[in-house]
Amino acid sequence: KWEKIDHRDRSKDELYEMEVTFNEMIDQLKDNYERQEDFVSNASHELKTPIQIVKSYAQLLARRGKDNPELLDESIEVIDSEADRMKRLVEQLLSLAKNKENVVHERVELVQLIEHSITTFKQAYNREIEFHKNTETIHVLGNAGQLEQIIYILIENALKYSEDKITVSLFTYNGDVIYSVKDYGSGIAPEDQERIFERFYRVDKARSRGTGGSGLGLSIAREIAEDHQGKLTVDSTLGEGSTFTMVLPVMKEGPDEK
Ligand code: ADP
Repeated sequence: KWEKIDHRDRSKDELYEMEVTFNEMIDQLKDNYERQEDFVSNASHELKTPIQIVKSYAQLLARRGKDNPELLDESIEVIDSEADRMKRLVEQLLSLAKNKENVVHERVELVQLIEHSITTFKQAYNREIEFHKNTETIHVLGNAGQLEQIIYILIENALKYSEDKITVSLFTYNGDVIYSVKDYGSGIAPEDQERIFERFYRVDKARSRGTGGSGLGLSIAREIAEDHQGKLTVDSTLGEGSTFTMVLPVMKEGPDEK
């Protein structure tokens, strides 16, 4: 008799556990589905705006452009910059959609990668970028293209959201490599500091649209850092500036290394 009750109780417990797990699974699926829906609707909205702008300029040109050189110049400029925005957005969407299993990780040297990005930015923006480091070379295990992307996103943001010089640094400490980008710009309010890593989140939509932003950069950057067993965080004071920091594990030297 005792055995029977015990058995029944156990199966009841098991059923209950299954129900809990099942409900959790359903909630998670719903959550994923809603996030997917939000993502698609945000992405289409972001694409619709530049398409609409290009279209209205095309119509304006068709109506009044033929003998209006000023309108012609203005339209070409707008169409060109809106096309750039679409191109960037599509590249970012593709980078988010990339199948992680196809991303190859290999030995990557960071100092050279960073110096290369800094040179490119100095030329493109004509701004002062300081670089401090405590090592001449440092290797991590990762994907060079993705690591370059994160290096690039943080420098570009620092340049976009500040006017003075910016400081890039690379330090090794306790088996980690710490890459950080400091600016003396607008800074980010405490309540926005976690949200800026969400997809499509922008603190000041009007202003960051003006700078060509879609709000995807930092979400991509954080995802890349995490895919490399690392972390990406921000430390910022409103009105004083921000420091974005990525920490990655240094790659251990293999037996074939000298
Ligand atoms: P965006 O394409 O808009 O720059 P990001 O994901 O890179 O998208 O950044 C999200 C938002 O975080 C930006 O719109 C901006 O409001 C804020 N932000 C990012 N970097 C900085 C920075 N260095 N200083 C101040 N605000 C920043």
